[in-house]
Amino acid sequence: MILKGKTALITGSTSGIGAACATALAREGCAVMINGFGDAASIEAQRQALEELSGAKAVWSGADMTQPDQIAAMVETCHAELGGPDILINNAGVQHVAPVDEFPIEKWDQLIALLLSAPFHAMRAALPYMKAKGWGRIISTASAHSMVASPNKSAYNAAKHGLVGLTKTAALEVAKQGITVNCISPGYVWTPLVENQIPDTMRTRNMTREQVINDVLLGAIPQKQFVMPDQIGAMALFLCRDEASAVTGSNLVVDGGWTAQ
Ligand code: NAD
Repeated sequence: MILKGKTALITGSTSGIGAACATALAREGCAVMINGFGDAASIEAQRQALEELSGAKAVWSGADMTQPDQIAAMVETCHAELGGPDILINNAGVQHVAPVDEFPIEKWDQLIALLLSAPFHAMRAALPYMKAKGWGRIISTASAHSMVASPNKSAYNAAKHGLVGLTKTAALEVAKQGITVNCISPGYVWTPLVENQIPDTMRTRNMTREQVINDVLLGAIPQKQFVMPDQIGAMALFLCRDEASAVTGSNLVVDGGWTAQ
């Protein structure tokens, strides 16, 4: 158990990629704070399963990651209840699909707050604890859309491109302090976030569900299959290992070959 004694705060971890990261780290003995929305009974079942897996404490925070004051309070609660955080995974996310000139202003503001500002606020609050220990890992789930764009995803693409810039900057600032800061950039991972954008894409592109999956989502993917959440969890775990201490300021791509083209 390589993460015994360590604490991770993983945002947006009641579902999809974040839940897979929580499982991967708990399996190595890490105490975890999960965060995100969902049904209370399922979240409690997930929390208990994580404790069984890790043999360490697991807690849930319902902080809304679009709210800076709630993010700061969540980091303080994590510190008070678990210690750390030694590992911060910025992962909470939503998508909205519409052309720029029809993009609702409140959706733009929500996506930028959640996908770009929330990682800043969480890093800002967590870094002093990592600096005090001389060890830390900050991992942000960016996206293949941090490097390439798709139409109708202006806020998402802008935020994910910006997240890579934030990551590089923070990595340089703490390079001599035992803290690494990286992004993982998945291609399409089969999670509710992807499934939920199919109806909008069907409407905006006038396509069937099968056409959206095969021609839009997997259209540019050489492997012609979705990335699995566990594969992102495995990459996050790798970044937490001591062997990964020289990997910093990077954007690690797990996309089935999409951006190699
Ligand atoms: P998901 O919908 O399965 O999970 C999203 C999580 O974020 C949930 O736990 C949800 O409750 C939480 N969340 C949403 N809004 C929140 C808020 N305001 N405050 C706190 N939590 C909130 O999605 P996913 O596919 O696992 O996506 C996770 C991350 O991975 C996102 O940042 C997304 O952009 C990124 N990503 C996903 C894919 C993909 O194909 N699924 C690809 C690249 C990047």
